[in-house]
Amino acid sequence: MAQLSLEHISKTYDGNVKAVDDFCLDVSDQEFIILVGPSGCGKSTTLRMIAGLEEISSGTLTIDGKVMNDTEPKDRDIAMVFQNYALYPHMTVYDNMAFSLKVRHLPKDEIDRKVRQAAEILNLTPLLNRRPKALSGGQKQRVAMGRAIVRNPKVFLMDEPLSNLDAKLRVQMRLELARLHRNLKATIIYVTHDQTEAMTLGSRIVVMDKGRIQQVASPQELYKHPANLFVAGFIGSPQMNFLSAEIRTDRTAVCLDAPVPFPDEFAKKLPEDAADREWILGIRPEDLTLLPEDADGTWKAEVQFYELLGAEAHVLCTADSQQISVKVSSDKVPEIGSICTIAINEEALHFFDKETEDAIF
Ligand code: ADP
Repeated sequence: MAQLSLEHISKTYDGNVKAVDDFCLDVSDQEFIILVGPSGCGKSTTLRMIAGLEEISSGTLTIDGKVMNDTEPKDRDIAMVFQNYALYPHMTVYDNMAFSLKVRHLPKDEIDRKVRQAAEILNLTPLLNRRPKALSGGQKQRVAMGRAIVRNPKVFLMDEPLSNLDAKLRVQMRLELARLHRNLKATIIYVTHDQTEAMTLGSRIVVMDKGRIQQVASPQELYKHPANLFVAGFIGSPQMNFLSAEIRTDRTAVCLDAPVPFPDEFAKKLPEDAADREWILGIRPEDLTLLPEDADGTWKAEVQFYELLGAEAHVLCTADSQQISVKVSSDKVPEIGSICTIAINEEALHFFDKETEDAIF
């Protein structure tokens, strides 16, 4: 398949909108890489520049070592799958999948073989004679994938391909996509704004914000060691708690007027002037425990509200007028208005420099 390299890629639209800023990334052969970030952060623009649908303002795009900046989209050997499927309504599933091969004047028996092979992979064989209007959303999405697969491209680019599907079907299609990736051994670059989709699908995730890469890492690494405040807040649901903190010269942190001890190995990573800077302490709701009021723990908090999420519940408390969310087992939800003690898993603390917003650990 293919290896891609994006070196210092930027895109400025007319009117000086800097949509993508100094994007640097190497994508290995057969990698399934995800671009994730909030709406407007530059994901689609990046994908469209790779596809050749958008001109690259500066930087270099290479595929298998060849510079592609000025290569026509049709000559890049890339297939793109869009959110809206873009199927031809008057053609059958078979013809939709065969279309790009017919345009290339491939022999009829070769087209037939490729279409049937892709249909088999995607469980579309019984539907080959149907037209798109007689297909469900998930089936249409599979046809859109089929059209890409028949071309046997070097790279698949997918722009929010599952976002028009309902929640249940999205989960099913996520599994199918993971299977497809294993079977095709393809290089896939996949755009989504949905962190769950990113975390479950990708072997490596690129988190973007305001046109810039914030972090490139495996799902586990992003969750455990977010590089900055943006990534920490974007990955994880419910969101990580952020609290203003001071770090004392004795290397404990003070937060909500209570000292929060942290492990020695953390203390070693602190800069010399840690006590003179302002910090934000980050702690995930799942790394906090709610105990009875008279138990030992770091903070006393009042329970404000809770959401039941099945086996787990998300409890919102206030301590010292700051909000703290805690994940608990749904059979351990405390009463609204009650006072609880919050205990912290100190190994799971994160500290961010308030000024740079970068994480130190
Ligand atoms: P995402 O895919 O992450 O939602 P986009 O890549 O679509 O983000 O957009 C990134 C930024 O570029 C946004 O601010 C958007 O408004 C702007 N943008 C996108 N397309 C154009 C265009 N054709 N002309 C001007 N600005 C654009």
